[in-house]
Amino acid sequence: MKFRSGIGGPAFILFFLVGALLAFPHPRRAYGFTIISEAEENEIGKKADEEILRRFGRYRHQELQAYVESIGQRLLEGIGPTSFRYSFKIIDIPEVNAMALPGGYIYITRGMLGMLNTEAQLAGVLGHEIGHATARHAAKQLTKAFGAQILSLGLMALSPGGRENAGNWAMVSTALFDHVLLGYGREAELEADDLGLRTAYRAGYDPREMVTFLKAMKVKERLEALGYHGFQGTHPETTDRIVKAETMSSILVEQGGGSLEVKANEYKAHLDGLLYGAKQDNRRLKIYAAKGGDTPASVAKDILGDQQLAWEIANLNGIKEATVFREGDQVKFLAPSPDGGSGGQRLKLSPN
Ligand SMILES: [Zn+2]
Repeated sequence: MKFRSGIGGPAFILFFLVGALLAFPHPRRAYGFTIISEAEENEIGKKADEEILRRFGRYRHQELQAYVESIGQRLLEGIGPTSFRYSFKIIDIPEVNAMALPGGYIYITRGMLGMLNTEAQLAGVLGHEIGHATARHAAKQLTKAFGAQILSLGLMALSPGGRENAGNWAMVSTALFDHVLLGYGREAELEADDLGLRTAYRAGYDPREMVTFLKAMKVKERLEALGYHGFQGTHPETTDRIVKAETMSSILVEQGGGSLEVKANEYKAHLDGLLYGAKQDNRRLKIYAAKGGDTPASVAKDILGDQQLAWEIANLNGIKEATVFREGDQVKFLAPSPDGGSGGQRLKLSPN
């Protein structure tokens, strides 16, 4: 991924890491085992949280932050007592991603928030990350990557007076960030999808919205060659993941009666003013309340003064260009860069 280059530690850490792995070839263990205690996981999370926030920065928007936190807490209520104190933070980067650190530290990027279209999709994405945390994928992956002996060296860096072990911490955190940002592998991703769908469903959300999101992601990644949790649009495993999510969500929906929430308008209303794309372009999402009978083309013409931008409106809202909006539907559009910045479409002041 684009921001991966900024993640790795200095060369000496890699050198140390390679050396360490050569010295102690790690034993073969079944996936799903960890020597890290929950208390240690909390410590790792706390330390790595500082690092994530330092590297990427938080997106400062109190109301949106509170909204994301509230959905996260609603999801947790359905799970019952948990080992960790969960937090949900918005990271100030345009890439579409979400992450879970050990110990219940969950992040979602402003790029992801801008791409999602319903509260149920947000619930699915946060549910997936909560799934990684409750299944302790990071802790298991670290144990698998290093083996118990090496990892215990890294963990010593967490103990009081562990300053001299900064190199060991760097070893652990480098491996940790690779997995946190790039995904944990097929098995763990499928497990997190499954847990996420159940968690969203238990909280009253329509799990099929997550499938909609995964499909949109597949299209997007095919176009942009990006990866979300090891998710590559051109890879056959992606289709497998979507098919499994589709099956699981229809089973859930068939099982339970009652109405499930999607909440598209409520969700989009929170995005008004959200920074979109590269920071220096200073482009923001705006929200337009549709009149009955509006279409992406009419919104493009009336608001942006350019009917050609119908595709952009359709794409931003995850709909077809032929969609007809209902009265009051919230419609995302991309406000032109105030300074006519790089690549942005300029606002025509007087539509012809
Ligand atoms: Zn994942």
